[in-house]
Amino acid sequence: MYIQRRLSDSLSTIRGLRFGTVCKEKSSHRYRATVGIGGNVGDVKRRFEHLFNYLKRDKRVELLKTSLILKNPPFGFVDQDDFFNSIIVLKTSMQPILFLDYLMRLEKKFARKRSFANAPRTLDLDIIFFDNRIINKPKLQVPHNEWSKRESVLIPLTDIYR
Ligand code: AMP
Repeated sequence: MYIQRRLSDSLSTIRGLRFGTVCKEKSSHRYRATVGIGGNVGDVKRRFEHLFNYLKRDKRVELLKTSLILKNPPFGFVDQDDFFNSIIVLKTSMQPILFLDYLMRLEKKFARKRSFANAPRTLDLDIIFFDNRIINKPKLQVPHNEWSKRESVLIPLTDIYR
């Protein structure tokens, strides 16, 4: 069941069983990662639920919190369906680059096909923060370069740290 709330003509928030929740912390994983998730192809909310269940079972990570889901219009290539975005906070002991590889494998598992920039996507996973680290490698920039410019990150973030 989802509870939808309109924020404006183009934006609405969606609270679900798994999104907009806090989990109990119990592991001894070392780092806290804030991950942006998004998609606009097929049943994205259902895919998010599947991702949640997958992460919940995976011992390499421990889910701490999920934000509500934001439905918002595409940017860049605008002739495509609205996006659904959310933020999850989790703990892991993987180092940042290994964690990025892990997320990219998850994107593949959830059938993401890379085509062109800002193209429609089944699942996009971005590292927004990784503890309070600043990383500037060719393959990985943390905090994520665009985090403070995107409503799709800022609105779910405000929800999670409310
Ligand atoms: P995207 O099309 O947004 O999924 O971009 C994916 C590419 O961005 C990957 O090849 C990553 O190497 C790179 N990248 C750089 N910084 C980050 C980050 N903070 N989170 C996820 N991907 C990143």
